[in-house]
Amino acid sequence: MNKNFIAFALFLILINYSLSAQTRARTEINIPDIMDYKTLKCDFHMHTVFSDGLVWPSIRPEEAWRQGLDAIALTDHIEYTPHKDDININFNRPYEIAKPAGDKLDIIVIKGSEITRGMPPGHCNAIFLTDASKLIQDDWRDAFKEAKKQDAFIFWNHPGWKSQQPDGISKWYEEHTWLLKNNMLNGIEVVNERDYYPEVFQWCLDKNLTILCNTDVHDPVQMFWEIHDHDFRPVTLVFAKEKTEASIKEALFAGRTAAYATNSLFGKEQFVRQIFNNSVSINKTDLVINGKRSVNIMFKNDSDIDYKLVSKNKFEELSFNDEITLYANKTVILSLRGTSNEKSDIQKFELLFEVQNIKINSEENLMVSFPLNITFVPVEKM
Ligand SMILES: [Zn+2]
Ligand SMILES: [Zn+2]
Repeated sequence: MNKNFIAFALFLILINYSLSAQTRARTEINIPDIMDYKTLKCDFHMHTVFSDGLVWPSIRPEEAWRQGLDAIALTDHIEYTPHKDDININFNRPYEIAKPAGDKLDIIVIKGSEITRGMPPGHCNAIFLTDASKLIQDDWRDAFKEAKKQDAFIFWNHPGWKSQQPDGISKWYEEHTWLLKNNMLNGIEVVNERDYYPEVFQWCLDKNLTILCNTDVHDPVQMFWEIHDHDFRPVTLVFAKEKTEASIKEALFAGRTAAYATNSLFGKEQFVRQIFNNSVSINKTDLVINGKRSVNIMFKNDSDIDYKLVSKNKFEELSFNDEITLYANKTVILSLRGTSNEKSDIQKFELLFEVQNIKINSEENLMVSFPLNITFVPVEKM
């Protein structure tokens, strides 16, 4: 082979390699908008080297962009700074460093801090702060008062964290009642990292507190999440009027959120029902069944969530599978079969399903129904 040709081929390979090495790609999280709101994907709890995290602040917006998020809050511990001999600790710096990186990528970066106290009241995040350094206070009550003075949104982190609650069960203390009464507790993490707290989900609904779902990530995200297929970082879905910091803040105070973690949704029925309805469509509702033969209906799922449906009603005239999974971004078939060769009429049905991975409170799953009009045509015996 010609030497020049080999050199040229090598040159092309190198060019290609360096181009692909530079490619930065974002994977969207496909969950539909609802009502008149945009469904923003957010993570309001993460750490950097400015407390006990292992990454530099500007890396967080890049990770968030690549993983399909819209907004993040950096929330380093105020009271725990193990890297202080190596890093000049300043609680406003993580935001100041991350914000320009976020702006370049259209990732909203929110200034926050983690008020890190023993239980009660435990750990709480204050976000939308103006000056995080003012949260350095001897008495935890003064730290919350300062956060409120800055008009922060304050939420309780990982209430069932085993280091503070060895049985993993969250407990509500007088101190939390005091915070709630004084308007210094606006939400709670229903999901933190890989833990889900059903009792906290119910508190949010009963006490009108906002549902949060965050990573609390300390490592580079991909050293902890997405290490195998379907291992997605948890996300707080925020139903915001616009993709702006002000709109996110308004939606958080108004309680318009849901939790999305491990292929499940946790939220108020009015919101999660809309997510399901805007994700799933059916190809037809008027069907003809000839005798005992079958007919197909197709469910199209335009979201990243595999919806797991279990049938909740039975009909003498129809037979079909009890369980069906509506796979993410796919269309699946449900086959309906007649049970009589003689039947001749038109009948309305309402197929009722429980969606096992959409929780509307600590005990119940979302129920959905699909109306069908079926014309039964008798078939002559052969
Ligand atoms: Zn914490
Ligand atoms: Zn934390």
